Parts: sequence; structure tokens; C-alpha cells
Amino acid sequence: MGRASSSSDASAAKQQRVRAWFAEVSDALVSVFFPSGCRICDRLLTSASRVPLCEECLSSFERVPGVICEICGRPLPGWKKEPDQPVLCPACQDRTYAFDRARSFAVYENAVVRAILLLKFEQIEPLGSWFAHRLAEAVNSEADWLAADVVVPVPLHRERERERGYNQAALVSKPLANRLRLPHKSVLLVRTRARPDKQVLSLEERWESVRGAFATRPGSQVDNLRVLLVDDVLTTGATLDACARALREAGAKSVVGLTVARALRNPLPDTREW
Ligand SMILES: [Zn+2]
Ligand SMILES: [Zn+2]
Repeated sequence: MGRASSSSDASAAKQQRVRAWFAEVSDALVSVFFPSGCRICDRLLTSASRVPLCEECLSSFERVPGVICEICGRPLPGWKKEPDQPVLCPACQDRTYAFDRARSFAVYENAVVRAILLLKFEQIEPLGSWFAHRLAEAVNSEADWLAADVVVPVPLHRERERERGYNQAALVSKPLANRLRLPHKSVLLVRTRARPDKQVLSLEERWESVRGAFATRPGSQVDNLRVLLVDDVLTTGATLDACARALREAGAKSVVGLTVARALRNPLPDTREW
């Protein structure tokens, strides 16, 4: 894809500065006229930010720790990195996911769980942008292998999205694409089969419920694309895997999964099933 000319880059940068200034001014006005409490701990919000969470709650989000599986991003506490040895969790030693790698910003615990619920059920866009900023930092720190052409949110089933009115993954993927200056393709992937109504799914049911549940939209250009696939939470990796499979089948060159949070307490999948 061709790069924009430098003069339009300059005017885009100017526009962005003006927009940033307006955003700052209007944030300040909002906090003056509508003082409110943190949506997690109820502490009065003092900073001029549209994110309805206090600094204490935001900084309490536990980042995914240092040593992680190079493929799936699973934290591996207590593991030591041997020189010239890839760090792979037991699941990734046995199987290959359809995605190339996955990374997450924070551990799915405590305040992060509450924040994801706010994103999921209250459509708090500034929080989505805040998470997107954190994911952009992660992408930029591993720029060598995270190079991508498009950003794609994990889709909801059409009926689910109609009920909810939005897709929470897109609340993060859209501002992420803006930050990375990449096209955002929210309709490239579709979910063709809805998640079962049952609230709690076993590990096997999770994998079963998403197998073949995604497809690329007929007529969309996927060939040779490097895709950043975005979701709110990575639990077993089954959803990212099913999406990545559909993208790879349509010709995608690589798929990297990025999620806001990573559940740690899920057991390792039973590799015999694969
Ligand atoms: Zn708080
Ligand atoms: Zn792994």
C-alpha cells in the first residue's frame, strides 16, 4: 500500500494536534461540570480524563509478567530462559495454533475484570482507547515480528451485536488501528455460529463452540495480509485460534492475536484432543 505524501502527512499531523487540543479542553470541561466517581472504587475523579477510572485503579492493573511463552504469551512464573532455547509452554510444545503469536496487556484479575465488564456492557469508549494505547506500546516494543497490514476485531455473531449495539473488541481495535496508522477492517471476519447460551463452558465445550464458527466475508481481500487480531480476553486461545484458522484459510500471511487481558487460572488444554 502506498504511503501518503509528506504534505498531507503534515496537515494530518496538524489536524491531529488540533483534535488533541480540543479533546483536552473538552475533557477538562467535562470534569469540571460533571464530577464523578471512579467506576471501580468510587473515589472522586480528579484528573481531566474521559476514562471513568481513577489513577489508583488504572495503575493497579497487573501487567503480564516477564517470562512468557513465546508463542501464546502464557506467563510462565518460575521459568528460566536458557540461552538459544525458545521459551515454550507445554501446550505450545505439542501443538501449533493457527495464530503465529498472542500477547496480552494485563492479567485478567481484580480491577481488570471490572474494567473489562465496563467495556463489554457499558460501551465506555475512552476506556477502549486507553487499553488500545497500552496495546500499541506493546506492539511497538516488539515491532520486529509484530509488523502488520490490518487490524481486525474478533467479531460477535450478528444477532449478539444487534442486541448489544456494538462489539466490545472493536472498542479497542479501532483506536489501536488509529494509533498504529493501519486500516481497521471490522467486517473482514464474521462469526457464523453464535456462542451457546450456557454461561459456563468447559474447556472442551469452549474449543467445540468456536471450531468453524468464523469465516472471512466473501469477496474480502485477505491474501498475503499480516493481521493483528484483537479481542478483550484470552482464556483458552480457542477463539483466536478459530479466527486465525479462517484468516489463514483465506490466504492471510500471518495472524498475531492481541488481547487486553489474559486469564491465568485456566488449566492447560488437553493436548490429546488435538
Ligand atoms: Zn478507582
Ligand atoms: Zn504457549
